[in-house]
Amino acid sequence: MSILVVGTVAFDSLETPFGKADAVLGGSATYFSTSASFFTDVNLVAVVGEDFPEESVEFLKSRNISIEGLERMPGKTFHWKGKYGYDLNEAQTLETHLNVLADFRPQLPAGYAESEYLFLANIDPDLQLEVMSQAKNARLVACDTMNFWISSKPDSLTKVLQRVDIAIINEGEARQYTQEANLVKAAKKILAHGVNTLIIKRGEYGVLMFNGSSVFAAPAYPLEQVFDPTGAGDTFAGGFMGYLANTGDTSDAGIRQAIIFGSVMASFNVEDFSLERMKKLTYPEVEERFRHFKSLTHFEGLPVL
Ligand code: AMP
Repeated sequence: MSILVVGTVAFDSLETPFGKADAVLGGSATYFSTSASFFTDVNLVAVVGEDFPEESVEFLKSRNISIEGLERMPGKTFHWKGKYGYDLNEAQTLETHLNVLADFRPQLPAGYAESEYLFLANIDPDLQLEVMSQAKNARLVACDTMNFWISSKPDSLTKVLQRVDIAIINEGEARQYTQEANLVKAAKKILAHGVNTLIIKRGEYGVLMFNGSSVFAAPAYPLEQVFDPTGAGDTFAGGFMGYLANTGDTSDAGIRQAIIFGSVMASFNVEDFSLERMKKLTYPEVEERFRHFKSLTHFEGLPVL
């Protein structure tokens, strides 16, 4: 089953303790689509400006991502400038230039109508609502967001959360949105909006999944080299949704397995700047790391003392 995604396709300028990159390919929809494309077909809805290079469009096409919904508008592409200290879990936004995103009004191409899986990647929540209202066949809808939108459009974000099945946000944002320091209490407040499953991303500490009746914890893959965490969240979401759309299994067991595939994909992405690692990644490498992940989290459950 194909996935429809709306989000940003961007230029990122980044600084980590290990190096700098200026105006490289980034954006929530870019990372998501690339990751999901390892599992299923992806229909992309996003906007870029006149300055967006053809080479990056070709890269998306090479991953078999449909770019029929990638609009090119007069003006400049969305540009995010961010910085990380030695704590790579928290990005510090230095500048956000919405550019063409400020006037973007998405129109879903007719061919996208059949997508039953919809991912509302990090973007203006009003655009997330707009896409949701056009995606008539979506039967599983998930969303992400970030501090920028929590501060500037909290009411629109609440409307999004009231309508999605799954929310995938990072721990700082869960705390900021709910004004709760404790993550279990924060999760309860978010689930109370009607979200079925909440996945809280905790950077190098992995993820926590809450669905009202069970909690699942997955570690992050222990890596010696974490170079650039940008896009880890979107890459996680791409692996997670890609796996769900591929199997159609949205049971608790299916969701847990999808979380591990998401974690595997994110673990590759952080090994290099921008999408450099994802460009070289092969599916056998994904399978191999998935197996390592299984042994990493396995224990026998011997009788308790
Ligand atoms: P993450 O997976 O959270 O690291 O997402 C990183 C990506 O989010 C970067 O490639 C940015 O281009 C993109 N981004 C940064 N700020 C925003 C924003 N306010 N809205 C949408 N996308 C953003």
